[in-house]
Amino acid sequence: MVRAIVGANWGDEGKGKITDMLAKGSDIIIRFQGGSNAGHTIINDYGKFALHLLPSGVFYDHTTSVIGNGVALNIPYLIKEIDSLVERGVPRPRVLVSDRAQLLMPYHILFDTYEEARLAGKSFGSTKSGIAPFYSDKYAKIGIQVSELFDDEVIKEKVRRVCETKNVLLEHLYHKPLLDEKELLETCRQYRDLVAPYVCDVSSYLHDALKEGKTILLEGQLGSLKDPDHGIYPMVTSSSTLAAYGAIGAGIPPYEIKDIITVVKAYSSAVGAGAFVSEIFGDEADELRRRGGDGGEFGATTGRPRRMGWFDAVASRYGCRIQGATEVAFTVVDVLGYLDEIPVCVGYEIDGKVTRDFPATVKLEKARPVLTTLPGWKCDIRGIKKYGDLPENCRNYIEFIEKEIGVPITMVSNGPGREDIIMR
Ligand code: GDP
Repeated sequence: MVRAIVGANWGDEGKGKITDMLAKGSDIIIRFQGGSNAGHTIINDYGKFALHLLPSGVFYDHTTSVIGNGVALNIPYLIKEIDSLVERGVPRPRVLVSDRAQLLMPYHILFDTYEEARLAGKSFGSTKSGIAPFYSDKYAKIGIQVSELFDDEVIKEKVRRVCETKNVLLEHLYHKPLLDEKELLETCRQYRDLVAPYVCDVSSYLHDALKEGKTILLEGQLGSLKDPDHGIYPMVTSSSTLAAYGAIGAGIPPYEIKDIITVVKAYSSAVGAGAFVSEIFGDEADELRRRGGDGGEFGATTGRPRRMGWFDAVASRYGCRIQGATEVAFTVVDVLGYLDEIPVCVGYEIDGKVTRDFPATVKLEKARPVLTTLPGWKCDIRGIKKYGDLPENCRNYIEFIEKEIGVPITMVSNGPGREDIIMR
């Protein structure tokens, strides 16, 4: 049985905790897209961790953690992340890396940084982890596959081709130091030795696992609105954030994905530039940012303050639909307990017309929020275990949003801790 856990919004919905919970009941947990550009926060008996590349299953000894072919694999980063867990007392996790995954190379990070600088004020708000240059190379067919590291001739030729094209750009577009073929080849050799113990024919492994009835969890990163096709292009990430892509980025049949748990946040937050219809500013935003998440709404990877907004039913309904959500985990509800009234964005006004459908970016830029207001519950709901014990106004808020998004909310998260979850 395959389940996917994905985000409906801009990312940072609180997937980490729900993923950790679902990982406990899974045999295999797979990262299928993205790289170390985003992060989950997980709080457990070992402490508080920000995972960037490893799947959340790494804390359990009954699980296998898989880096699928769809991931942008930064090998030294992966090794560092594994070692840092072990240093903090976590038992060494069982990790498999797809032999079809491609390598995120140091020059991808350089190109990301150079391009952001070149675009200056018109940049896409990259985390400069090399993700966009990595996926560009993958589709331009000059990416390096893990399997290629193990063939001296193939890797030599690949490195030669990479230097040939990259150096033209480095010299004439960015005016930066050139790549050295020998040095790059040496880096590849080091990467080969580092990754060797983990390499696996993942899709074949998963094929067998499925036959044996194993429980598999696909762990998504970011959210629907960052998908390069269905998100707010071009303010998107460079690989698909949708559950459907899990089949491709892991190498399993699409029909095996039976459950798509979509994480929706009780208010909105986003990083980087781009349209954000329900955005709030000033003191109102500062207060929500300060109270948000666990210790404020600041990026897990970059530390950047997040942009804040009220719950956006238009974006979230679309985010759930495009994921194919079968159930919703509704998170950080506890944070809203300080508000007398809670505004919710229920429509977009575009060129004088109100719509409930999330439009493509050009139209989205013109959208103004249509807000409605729900009464707050004015108390701390952390520690509550049963849905029925939540204040009435809190249940009304949850049920209002459930109706708006049209997907059952099966879990309500009322605190950052592992136990702060209400099953409905
Ligand atoms: P992800 O990018 O979707 O994986 O987001 P994270 O899992 O990193 O969550 C973002 C932040 O929200 C972290 O600091 C979490 O500890 C915190 N968080 C998650 N769920 C809740 C919740 O229900 N209430 C509160 N207050 N914080 C939460």
